[in-house]
Amino acid sequence: MSVENKSNKYILKKTNEYKYLSPEYTYYLITGNNTKYYVKTKSPVLKEQLVFEDNNEKFYANISGTVMGRKIFEDKNYLVIRNDYHEKYNLNKTLRKKINKLTKREMLDILINADASDYSSNIKYFVNNFDSIDSLVLSLLICEDSDKIYSEVFNKYNSDILEIFDAISQVFEIKNPIIILSDTDDNNIEFVTNLSGMYPDIRIVLSHDKYPASHPLLITRKLNLNNALVLTSMDLYYLYSIIKRNKKVFEKTIYITGENLEFNYLVDTKLNVLVKDIFEFCNIETTDEDILCKNSAIKAEIISPFDIIDSTVDSIVIAKKTCEKQKECINCGLCNKYCPQNINPQIYKLNKKPFPGKCIDCNMCSYICPSKIRKDI
Ligand code: SF4
Ligand code: SF4
Repeated sequence: MSVENKSNKYILKKTNEYKYLSPEYTYYLITGNNTKYYVKTKSPVLKEQLVFEDNNEKFYANISGTVMGRKIFEDKNYLVIRNDYHEKYNLNKTLRKKINKLTKREMLDILINADASDYSSNIKYFVNNFDSIDSLVLSLLICEDSDKIYSEVFNKYNSDILEIFDAISQVFEIKNPIIILSDTDDNNIEFVTNLSGMYPDIRIVLSHDKYPASHPLLITRKLNLNNALVLTSMDLYYLYSIIKRNKKVFEKTIYITGENLEFNYLVDTKLNVLVKDIFEFCNIETTDEDILCKNSAIKAEIISPFDIIDSTVDSIVIAKKTCEKQKECINCGLCNKYCPQNINPQIYKLNKKPFPGKCIDCNMCSYICPSKIRKDI
């Protein structure tokens, strides 16, 4: 599957903000691998109550309400909870003060005991490899429309994100904490510049690169770093909630964008709601010609309207299907120009040869191609 490459005009459209924090239903994916239930159908549940374990992962209710039983959409089996709109909590939790005074062991224990099976791959990597990380990079780079979510989340929670970024860097003795931003991101540039005195250890780097510079490997290469981990503002806000607010994360902000949308949408939403329910709530209409891409039109990972918003969904790009529209190569050279690995993808695409090992699968050569010739055929 490939998508139109017309996007990336970078955000001249207005962004509308929505709050979808009181959905009628939330959905929890059951794989059926050693599933152990802690609630019964029609029983009441509290927010943060453990509802089931599945494949050794624990699932907690993110609303209070009633267990409605199981429901199947497109072969996916969900446990459904209906909202009572009271947000009754299982536990009362308080803010931790002075998080930079925690020891490394205390902070690690918080992260491990938070039992967040839905940590992003970045956070999992951090928890398992903190000893070998020399540089921590917060990337706010905007290289395609969907990346704007990271800049927006930083803009919304900037003080909290800087607090946790600084605390983690100090507690885990990270030598190089760096924030990299696009040089067009005026609001965030002003904010980090004003606060740079408060956080003297954090280095600020401005980048004027266009795509595909937001790939973590390209960021670390640009900054000339070894043993670095690139985090998003979403990762850090997640860590802030776990470490400082002492709370699991049941809500997030997502960004919905697309060539044919009149507006972009910034939506504060509960996790575990169906994509189609958010679209309905925001009055976003799609057609059979549209595909929904998770987080990036360039990578074109497809998401269904019957999938749920989980911690891995940061944005949704509504794009046009282009499967049937491949044309002859016009020798424009764009794939060669934008390949970050100097591969000349044209040769491999046209000869249908396997791409060499140094390809990082960024998919830029498919995305950029005006003839829609993809890498994966
Ligand atoms: S997918 Fe591979 S060949 Fe294509 S642009 Fe990216 S690195 Fe280059
Ligand atoms: S981008 Fe597409 S059309 Fe242009 S040289 Fe590469 S394969 Fe050919």
